[in-house]
Amino acid sequence: MNARCPVCGRPLEIPEDPVSGELVDHDCGATIEIIVSGEGIKLKPFQGVGEDWGE
Ligand SMILES: [Zn+2]
Repeated sequence: MNARCPVCGRPLEIPEDPVSGELVDHDCGATIEIIVSGEGIKLKPFQGVGEDWGE
């Protein structure tokens, strides 16, 4: 599935069946968070805050 990077505006490839909250690294160096909602998929730059990584 193709989308557009919200940081650099270039095409960004995301999984066919993305999970909300999934993170994708883009060529421009940005980390993009995938937000899945009832209206579709949104992409936003991941700020990297969060100290409670579950992994
Ligand atoms: Zn980018």
